[in-house]
Amino acid sequence: MTKKKLALEIIERLKQEYPDADCTLDYNQAWKLLVSVRLAAQCTDARVNVVVQDLYARFPDVNALADASVEEIEAIVKPCGLGHSKARDISACMRMLRDEYGGAVPDDFDSLLKLPGVGRKSANLIMGDVFGKPAIVTDTHCIRLVNRMGLVDGVTEPKKVEMALWKLIPPEEGSDFCHRLVYHGREVCTARTAPHCEQCCLADLCPRNGVKNTGAPKRAKSGAPEDAPKQAKTGAPEDAPKQAKKGAPEDAPKQAKTGAAGRAGKPA
Ligand code: SF4
Repeated sequence: MTKKKLALEIIERLKQEYPDADCTLDYNQAWKLLVSVRLAAQCTDARVNVVVQDLYARFPDVNALADASVEEIEAIVKPCGLGHSKARDISACMRMLRDEYGGAVPDDFDSLLKLPGVGRKSANLIMGDVFGKPAIVTDTHCIRLVNRMGLVDGVTEPKKVEMALWKLIPPEEGSDFCHRLVYHGREVCTARTAPHCEQCCLADLCPRNGVKNTGAPKRAKSGAPEDAPKQAKTGAPEDAPKQAKKGAPEDAPKQAKTGAAGRAGKPA
C-alpha cells in the first residue's frame, strides 16, 4: 500500500473512532487561542484553561493585555511554567496585534509566523481551528504516531514531518486528522506506556515502526488516558478539561474547512 493510500485509510478509521475530535484549549476569540497556545508549551491544556481565566479577568481584551507589563502577565501565567518567556512573548504578541492588525489576528500563515512566540505548530493550529483553513499541526503525538504508522520514516523534526504530511493528507482533512492523532496518542498509541496495538483500530494496517512491546489492555474510553493527566481529551497542544466549547471566535468566524489552498507547496 502506498503511503498516500495508507494515510487515507487511517484518516477514515480515525474519523470513525474519534468523530468529534477537536482542540481542548478553551477560547472564544482568536487572540485567546494565541495566548493559550503559547502558554501550553510544556504545560497541560487543563492548567492553561484555568490560568487564562485569571488572566482574562484582569486583562479582558487585546488592548488591556498589550498595555500590561511583562511582570504583571508573568505573575499570573507563572503556574504554566516558563513564566517570564511566555509573558514576554504574549506581551509582544498582543502589542503587535494592537499596533499592526487593529487588535485582530491575521488570517494568513506568514503573518502569524511573524508574531512573537508563534511557530509553525501554533500558526497551523490557528489556521485550522480559527480560520478553518488547511493545517497540519505537528505536535509530539503527531510526530510519534505518523512514524509508528509508517507515514514518515524516522522523521522527527516537526517542519519535515509537516512537509511530508502535506503530501499525503488531503488539505481539508489535515486539521481534524491532527486532532484525532492527539486523541489516539493519548488513549491508544501511548508514549509513556507501550502502545495498545491489540485494541487499535489501525492494528491490521500499522507497521508499528519502532514499537518493541505492546501494552496491557487499555482502559475504557471514559478512563483517563495513560499518558496524560486526568483532564480532558485532547487539544492540539496538550491536555485539558473542556469548559464552554470553543465558540466561533468573535473576531474570526470559523469558515468552511474546504477549498482554501494548502501550504503543501511551501518551501521547507
Ligand atoms: S497499531 Fe500500535 S503502533 Fe500502530 S497506531 Fe495502533 S497502537 Fe500505535
